[in-house]
Amino acid sequence: MPTTVSTNRADKVIDRCLRLASFSEDSEGTRRTFLSPPTRDCHLEIARWLSPLGVQARIDAAGNLHALYPAAQANAPHLLIGSHLDTVPNAGAYDGILGVVLAIALLEELQGRKLPFAVEVVGFSEEEGVRFGTPFIGSCALVGRLDQKLLEVHDAQGISVRKAIEEFGLNPEEIPQAELGNDALGYLEFHIEQGPVLESLSQPLAAVDAIAGQSRLEFTFLGRANHAGTTPMHLRCDAIAGAAEWIGAVERVAQGVPGLVATVGKLEAKPGAVNVIAAEACLTLDVRHSSDDVRTHAVEDLIRQAQEIAARRGLSVQENTLLSQRTIAMDPFLIGEIEQALRKTGCKPHRMVSGAGHDAMILAEKVPAAMIFLRTPRGISHDPAESVAAADVEKAIECGLHLLDQLASSPEFHKRINRA
Ligand SMILES: [Zn+2]
Repeated sequence: MPTTVSTNRADKVIDRCLRLASFSEDSEGTRRTFLSPPTRDCHLEIARWLSPLGVQARIDAAGNLHALYPAAQANAPHLLIGSHLDTVPNAGAYDGILGVVLAIALLEELQGRKLPFAVEVVGFSEEEGVRFGTPFIGSCALVGRLDQKLLEVHDAQGISVRKAIEEFGLNPEEIPQAELGNDALGYLEFHIEQGPVLESLSQPLAAVDAIAGQSRLEFTFLGRANHAGTTPMHLRCDAIAGAAEWIGAVERVAQGVPGLVATVGKLEAKPGAVNVIAAEACLTLDVRHSSDDVRTHAVEDLIRQAQEIAARRGLSVQENTLLSQRTIAMDPFLIGEIEQALRKTGCKPHRMVSGAGHDAMILAEKVPAAMIFLRTPRGISHDPAESVAAADVEKAIECGLHLLDQLASSPEFHKRINRA
């Protein structure tokens, strides 16, 4: 466990995260989905923190918060730093939010000092996909991908993304103006790891070098329903038994390949009665790895094994691909700079792959993007027990300040500034 060193600035960051967690759609626990009323309170609170810096917050047409800390010279390009402000239901206080609050802390720590580039804090309106079942609505607007089709997606109440934007007092026709221009130098995101790896390595921080690609599929095993008492074992076509054999194969395949994770997270059986052999078993499969080849091979192997198991048991099996997302590499120059900043902070320059998707993955389509992970105590996230250690937050602030200073004096970054 990290030692409990606390500093004022780290405690302030943690207090602010807890404060934002109080802006919730639910009276018990934190739930703040895309452009829900508590999102406005969240924006107002952040604007209040920014005002002593002379920095104004503005909300773009997709509901993202932006706050520009100017450069030493007018019209200089800007570096974006941020994360998302929406949450899952019954959320913790730090997923996403910490990245926005840390960005504000970095501006405060500059104490009025201006850099050769502007720093733009960004708080994305939607990353989790809770309200519309579609994640990354906020960051999609910044890369010019929030299109007509996405605007017409509906939530459970039948309200479209377009309508939600209008109801928040924003104009969906202005979304194209939210797209980043050539004056965006890159995107940097601090985020909790949301897993147990850094804690197991006793590392407070890490540079993310890639966001793992993922495949999501649905499998349906079809058998024959029959009486659980009168049908002998050798005369059954049991869909659940076939699915169960295949679930074992999923676990074995993933255990046999370093870095591969595969999960059957959902299983539904029909007709679903204690005394009836199942006619149908529907399962989901989620496969992730930093190598797209390794991931697609694993998926092909598991499809083959499902067919082989089904054939041997007198079943049939169908699969349907829901998502196939390639691995997104983070910017090598920024990763190198983060490693250097980690060393200056007294941390090992540990690199890791993110198994979860993040806004940085979307921003990387348009600008150089990089992420810094903070150790997540007990690996717990998407739960009220989610936490961070003040000592790790302090290291993140230190690391962020070193990084800004390095970029300010880096010849390579100056080339990027001059090109923008
Ligand atoms: Zn997040």
